[in-house]
Amino acid sequence: MSRKKNFNAGPAALPLPALERARDELLDFANSGMSVMEHSHRGKEYEAVHDEALALLRELLAVPATHEILFVQGGASQLFAQLPMNLVQKGQTADYVVTGAWGEKALSEAKVATAMLGGAVRVACTTGTGEGKEKSYVRVPRPDEVKADPAAAYVHVTSNETIHGVEYAVDPSRPFPSPGGAPLVADMSSDFLWRPFDVSRFGLVYAGAQKNIGPSGVVVVIVSKELVERGRKDIPKIFQLRTPAENKSLYNTPPTFGIYMIRNVLAWLKGLGGLSAMEARNRKKAARLYGAIDANPGFYRCPVEKESRSVMNVVFRLPSEQDEERFVAEAKKLGMVGLKGHRSVGGIRVSTYNAVEPEWVDALVDFMGAFAKRG
Ligand code: PMP
Repeated sequence: MSRKKNFNAGPAALPLPALERARDELLDFANSGMSVMEHSHRGKEYEAVHDEALALLRELLAVPATHEILFVQGGASQLFAQLPMNLVQKGQTADYVVTGAWGEKALSEAKVATAMLGGAVRVACTTGTGEGKEKSYVRVPRPDEVKADPAAAYVHVTSNETIHGVEYAVDPSRPFPSPGGAPLVADMSSDFLWRPFDVSRFGLVYAGAQKNIGPSGVVVVIVSKELVERGRKDIPKIFQLRTPAENKSLYNTPPTFGIYMIRNVLAWLKGLGGLSAMEARNRKKAARLYGAIDANPGFYRCPVEKESRSVMNVVFRLPSEQDEERFVAEAKKLGMVGLKGHRSVGGIRVSTYNAVEPEWVDALVDFMGAFAKRG
């Protein structure tokens, strides 16, 4: 079997050792005579895996005791609604900084949820210009452009826009905008766990698992205890963040196999040297790709401004859509898959999550050079 060089945006490549471990343990988990999927979520075998996954997350990200780590279902899309349902009180407003398609979706769901519950949302800043695909959402805002209300329930940012390839603080000297008093909330679905970050600066972060954490079906939420306590109690219990927080994310049946895979991925990540080692590896991969784009300015062009270029999702265009189709088809013949840009924006998108091997990127960069030369 030859495994593909998988550049999909999510579900995405998983580390081979994490998959091999699952294969080896599949039929007989921990000498129990059954798979982990067949165990009760209240049994000691599964509970050990669940606890290990939570402990690894706390260790790898140095999550302070002020913050809870939760496993939630429903995808990051559910959080778009669940977040305002919990945190926006009657008469209160939540602020949104919109830098791409996922921020738009988060805002739109929050609008509905807050209208239902007596609150509201406000756009604190948008980099959408309405000028078409290559001119809209090409950068993160400068801090002075964000007009956040200090009394807002929270200020929501999308730390990495998976479709537009726009990310905050690619250069470590460029921090997230300061929310100026209100808790900062981030959708980190596509740039969680690729580098260390200071969890204590955030009231809440959430990330769908299917990029850097494991298979789809689990959302990791890291939230301050203070925000959990402040959360509304007049919404169904299953949507209250205090429910997983008070029950170690075992209030009802969790996606046990997904969490088991998360454990495998995190153990692999720790074995490679943790998040600082992963950051160095990821920055090299992204630098190689942007280098290949910038080396052929007449052929490849990245619509994203340099300081906002994503390390996780590298997007670029070719001279024509036909060239792009040819690029994707020829790369596929070489075992490279998942390169087609999102249908809403077109172009090419290379996702370079943690499990994407540097050698795959090297192969792609070689291919890009040869393809541009042929024209
Ligand atoms: N936010 C971002 C930044 C994403 O990339 C995605 C999925 N690609 C989502 C939210 C939605 O995630 P899900 O499909 O898990 O609901």
